[in-house]
Amino acid sequence: MALAFDEFGRPFIILREQENKNRLRGLDAQKANISAGKAVARILRTSLGPKGMDKMLQSPDGDVIISNDGATILEQMDVDNQIAKLMVELSRSQDYEIGDGTTGVVVLAGSLLEQAERLLERGIHPIRIAEGYEMASRIAVENLERIANKFEFGETILEPLIQTCMTTLSSKIVNRCKRSLAEIAVKAVLAVADLERKDVNLDLIKVEGKVGGKLEDTELVYGIIVDKDMSHPQMPKQIEDAKIAILTCPFEPPKPKTKHKVDIDTVEKFQTLRKQEQKYFDDMVQQCKDVGATLVICQWGFDDEANHLLMHRNLPAVRWVGGVELELIAIATGGRIVPRFQELTAEKLGKAGIVREKAFGTTKDRMLYIEHCANSRAVTIFIRGGNKMIIEETKRSIHDALCVARNLIRNNSIVYGGGSAEIACSIAVEAAADKYPGVEQYAIRAFGDALESIPMALAENSGLQPIETLSAVKSQQIKDNNPHFGIDCNDVGTNDMREQNVFETLIGKQQQILLATQVVKMILKIDDVISPSEY
Ligand code: ADP
Repeated sequence: MALAFDEFGRPFIILREQENKNRLRGLDAQKANISAGKAVARILRTSLGPKGMDKMLQSPDGDVIISNDGATILEQMDVDNQIAKLMVELSRSQDYEIGDGTTGVVVLAGSLLEQAERLLERGIHPIRIAEGYEMASRIAVENLERIANKFEFGETILEPLIQTCMTTLSSKIVNRCKRSLAEIAVKAVLAVADLERKDVNLDLIKVEGKVGGKLEDTELVYGIIVDKDMSHPQMPKQIEDAKIAILTCPFEPPKPKTKHKVDIDTVEKFQTLRKQEQKYFDDMVQQCKDVGATLVICQWGFDDEANHLLMHRNLPAVRWVGGVELELIAIATGGRIVPRFQELTAEKLGKAGIVREKAFGTTKDRMLYIEHCANSRAVTIFIRGGNKMIIEETKRSIHDALCVARNLIRNNSIVYGGGSAEIACSIAVEAAADKYPGVEQYAIRAFGDALESIPMALAENSGLQPIETLSAVKSQQIKDNNPHFGIDCNDVGTNDMREQNVFETLIGKQQQILLATQVVKMILKIDDVISPSEY
């Protein structure tokens, strides 16, 4: 530290950079990192499984989120620690790649870190632990492949897809309606799926929500929903074989700009002006009719007089539709957006099988359904629910279910849930550990123990005795040589997850193990943490 003076003679202190830093080295660094990672995992542990708890998070501006989804919880938590941020990133990458299993992956990583801490205390070098973990993860992933089952599905055999989506939804807040939501998710994915290429473009599925009604009223619409209604209450509420003019130009006579001056000093002049205006608008309506439009969707508004005329001329119209929605409508109906009225032609009209206005309950809320569109296979999942929070959480849960259905279309292999796959892998990993002569065998064995944390957490969260339940299920698996035994979270009466229809996707489970191992290896290899000190 040194005292110096600037050009105005004001004193200031120079600190050498190193003095300004906090530094942790070697085992201390590893331990500090491990405890940060474990702390994050501990938060999510209680949310795992069908009986898991939900978290309530409040943002700085007062918004409240209630969620069970690991990625969402971590995303909303304002973590400062860099290692904790890595765990958040871990959950996010599982969400990005697979879409489901975001809680499980963090819980698994946390317990891998916990096991690593014990090994470090016993004097095993972190690199040996990392290598052992790597070997064990490979064994586990191969074992998953071995115990996985394939199922065939088609346009008529949807049941396996629905069951797998139901497993995802059963641990969410919306599990009351898991059957109907799973059916909606599967139908939506199949509607947009390219079964030949085995791919699904999830962008074609829009998820919309509106407060009101019940969760059971959630529906799948083969088309687009716009939060607007017909501009006049007496216009038809339903139009079949609609030809839609999509306008981004004003649908009204041009208004005089401020720099013009119109002198109206007699009644006649006023009448003429009005007639002129009316005629102008009348011509516009006629032009729409001439090209064959049966519905006009407008980005701008038109005044009540024009509205009245539209109703009289029997040309239904919708006004003040947002730009994004307008674009979606154009894509779905195969129409073109018309920026200048003169450019309106018959080819530019969008086509939809049916456009209808639907009212909700006794409220004035109305929405416009544009269905059976010409061009696109776009579908909309329209969620109803009692309040905004439940709608937001349903959106997140539906996202998970959609991802699961998409993953199954990409790869139709499944493993059984309820911790059964983890127990089977743990048995395989432990058996393999005995064959390794080196120090790595400890790490491999520890990996096996860490895998058991998932069934343990499931049992604990369901109010069961974790150790007793786990050991009973494990010995059952070994005795019967059957990898389908897991934790009976819902007290159904059987541990056989095959009978309980609790499925998870193979790629999702494999990804969980691979990602968790990768992050833990990364954390273990850090032996120097340099950070700015706090004053
Ligand atoms: P994630 O965000 O990781 O998907 P969840 O909270 O959704 O976490 O919990 C998923 C876990 O719950 C999986 O291990 C799954 O096998 C298990 N699970 C889901 N439904 C059941 C059930 N009915 N019985 C037992 N386990 C279940």
